[in-house]
Amino acid sequence: MSELILIAQGLHKRFGGVHAVADISLGIPRNVIYAVIGPNGAGKSTLLNLLSGVYQPNAGSLTFEGRDLAGLRSFDRVGLGIARTFQKIRLFKNLSLVENVLAGFHNHHRIPPWQYLIPGAARRADRDRCLGEAHELLKLVGLDARADQRAGSLAYGQQRMLEIARALATRPKLLMLDEPAAGLNASEVEFLLGRLRELKSRGVTLVVVEHNMDLVMRVSDHVFVMDHGEYLFDGLPAEVQKNPKVIGAYLGAEFA
Ligand code: ADP
Ligand code: MG
Repeated sequence: MSELILIAQGLHKRFGGVHAVADISLGIPRNVIYAVIGPNGAGKSTLLNLLSGVYQPNAGSLTFEGRDLAGLRSFDRVGLGIARTFQKIRLFKNLSLVENVLAGFHNHHRIPPWQYLIPGAARRADRDRCLGEAHELLKLVGLDARADQRAGSLAYGQQRMLEIARALATRPKLLMLDEPAAGLNASEVEFLLGRLRELKSRGVTLVVVEHNMDLVMRVSDHVFVMDHGEYLFDGLPAEVQKNPKVIGAYLGAEFA
């Protein structure tokens, strides 16, 4: 029995009268790759927003490493070791790659983040330490050769990898990725798959919302399926793949 790093009980999130997420409960074991799948509008991004603190639930509870997350906003959760990327890319397009990653270090800087972008002898040691780590993270996602280029100059798939590097700069224990393979070509998907395995081997717990079923089935330890905001099924990839309810929700398309 593996320890659960994150537990959600009966989460509800309504927008107006409409339930985007209804009565979702899940337990994420430490150091697994935990996929969340479901058709468009199933509530996957809303669930990530609840787990990461972008939204507060209308009902239900969340605990991370035994600690109640109620009322804690994203920034506070980052400090506890919860990081995420967004379905829609959010980078500083006019800053360099390495500056984008440095921006991710803000929560364990010894000085304010903006001071890292200006010269100053007093700051050099700390900046050098962060710079070294930023380059290591860029190496991890295959982008170190472009460290000084503008983030906006990167191809789409590379921007998604840069977002992962920036999220890793917060040194997360739990990293949540919202559709990391969206818009990636086949070789980029293979690279992403290898990086997810590498992060797992380094002890990171990963929650991956993903539409690419081939990737999900190959990389996940556990798959949680949602439909219309509700729980549909969860289990091993092979169990999910042959579950009639899941096949029905997708009309068989991705599972044919
Ligand atoms: P998924 O990521 O699985 O495609 P979402 O979580 O984005 O689904 O959305 C689930 C449902 O909640 C959708 O019907 C969507 O229209 C609705 N929804 C999501 N965010 C909002 C919002 N900010 N305001 C109103 N409705 C929303
Ligand atoms: Mg979504």
